[in-house]
Amino acid sequence: MTTTTEQKTLPCIAVESLTGCAGELLVILDNLEQLLPFVRIVSFPFAQSKNECGPVDITFVEGSVSQPHDIEKLKRIRSNSRWLIAIGNCAVWGCVQAGACSRCHVEDMLHAVYGDESPIKALPARPLSDFVHVDAMLSGCPINATQFLSVTASLLKDHLPYITHKPVCLECKLRENPCVLIEKNLPCLGPVTAAGCGALCPSLGAACYGCWGPCQSPQMAAMATILQEKGYQLDEVLSRLQTFGAPDTLFARMKPDAEVA
Ligand code: SF4
Ligand code: SF4
Repeated sequence: MTTTTEQKTLPCIAVESLTGCAGELLVILDNLEQLLPFVRIVSFPFAQSKNECGPVDITFVEGSVSQPHDIEKLKRIRSNSRWLIAIGNCAVWGCVQAGACSRCHVEDMLHAVYGDESPIKALPARPLSDFVHVDAMLSGCPINATQFLSVTASLLKDHLPYITHKPVCLECKLRENPCVLIEKNLPCLGPVTAAGCGALCPSLGAACYGCWGPCQSPQMAAMATILQEKGYQLDEVLSRLQTFGAPDTLFARMKPDAEVA
């Protein structure tokens, strides 16, 4: 991307990635045209070859911290950014890699994949907020484009966004879906999962498995009780609830019934 004189006066944005699947990067790339009149993208290694590493107004970071160089990179990003925004479940909660790391050792997983000679060093996957101050967190798997643009608009107006995390059930009801938890007895986590996906899975007759991370004040104990009453075993329920994040982080942020963990 070339930079005109006019663009040089625009707020600077960076889009960086740690260990993730690049889903957030694709969402941003897809919506870049809407941003370009208002910002200058100084770093976006996924999308452009020339990247600057100076001070930035807003840095969006996707991916979890899963390798030693992720920590160094994240600290560098933090010191260069006025606002650092975690985007996507990996950055906000640690996602499936953090869930997996809570159940087995990283060394065992590396050995299972690479044998005795692993070409990479890995750490137990963790969310960004374990290492640096994060100004706002936008969950999603991947993030919702409308939410992303709204968060960016708030930041460009010089204030931190107010991000609500209503449950998936709200979107599901607005779409007038039949409830798969009630009508099919499926272990739907919609009541405790943050909305934003448009209730994708229940709209297709499947149970929500919680990929966006918890909603605001999720009633986890009540959710576990309902699923147990429907015949699901507690360990199965807890495993399902802990799939998309590091359990200590997931449950530490789940008030008031964090004792489920
Ligand atoms: S199907 Fe799931 S998301 Fe939809 S209303 Fe029922 S519990 Fe909520
Ligand atoms: S698992 Fe839940 S949060 Fe994820 S896409 Fe499906 S319905 Fe949405």
